[in-house]
Amino acid sequence: MRTMLSAKSVIALLLILIGAGGLVLHAQWQKVRPVDRQSAVGDVSELDPEMRAAVSFLDDFELKRAPGQRDWLASHHEPGQSYGQYLRSGANVPKKGKDTLYILPLGTFGLGSSPKLSQLASYTEAYFHPMKVRVLPAVALNDVEAQTRERSFGTQLHSEDTLKWLEGKLPSDAYAMLAVTMVDLYPRESWNYVFGQASLKERVGVFSFARYSGGVGGGGEKVPKELALERSVKVLTHEFGHMFGVLHCIYYQCNMNGSNHLGEVDVSPLQACPVCLRKFHHACGFSAKTRYRKLLEFCEAQGLEDGAKFYKSRLEKMP
Ligand SMILES: [Zn+2]
Ligand SMILES: [Zn+2]
Repeated sequence: MRTMLSAKSVIALLLILIGAGGLVLHAQWQKVRPVDRQSAVGDVSELDPEMRAAVSFLDDFELKRAPGQRDWLASHHEPGQSYGQYLRSGANVPKKGKDTLYILPLGTFGLGSSPKLSQLASYTEAYFHPMKVRVLPAVALNDVEAQTRERSFGTQLHSEDTLKWLEGKLPSDAYAMLAVTMVDLYPRESWNYVFGQASLKERVGVFSFARYSGGVGGGGEKVPKELALERSVKVLTHEFGHMFGVLHCIYYQCNMNGSNHLGEVDVSPLQACPVCLRKFHHACGFSAKTRYRKLLEFCEAQGLEDGAKFYKSRLEKMP
């Protein structure tokens, strides 16, 4: 099996720095020129009419905002990844027999404002249509072979240990597997916490939603269940997106934007921009219209108003 990003071992281990007090490098942010944004989408003449429409009518997409001091692009110099660069990166695409996305719950879900696993699965299935998404039986936290430590708000799980343990658990028909948990994570002793960690080479990752529902690091305030769900599905599809070899987006406000803190997660939209959508289309081969319909149905049923508004408007423009 080829790695997700050939010859890119440097990013084989992707540490999600959000909120973890990572290095601040003060990279120089430069506004993307319209001509570069257009060429990042690439030549769309060969696309089927639905997909051509899905990457057109660009007024529906907000351009990437200039980063604030604490934002991702203020501290990470990212040149972006055009559709052409994505193709040339040799990113792996799903094949028959290796075409299932697995979600592995660690510990308990569905209590309080934590998202329901069935909701996470159906959103992921719509987003990466027509990939199969399966939720594996939950593993009790005691059965995860990883160190833990105690903090005033509760137990934290060692994310690097968890990743190593996950590598041996990847099902044979998996394209990728992400473990999800409501327990807080830490990557090493000196770090306070981390939102998640993934190994693109091994196609596994672990992500905590503990800080999205306000219980940990959120001042103890409970957030509305729609917001907790929205944050969780954003992060899950963003991280599965990386597994498809898609790098951070610098072109539009997009689900593939890097995020340095929760506020940035909240202003990034649920949807992929035209550049990233084209990459997912290459990998998954969906009908743009069917995918939009499924996502609209989910957003309407779960009260995700911004998402519903976006998908409704896109569907109206489909041929
Ligand atoms: Zn990312
Ligand atoms: Zn994008």
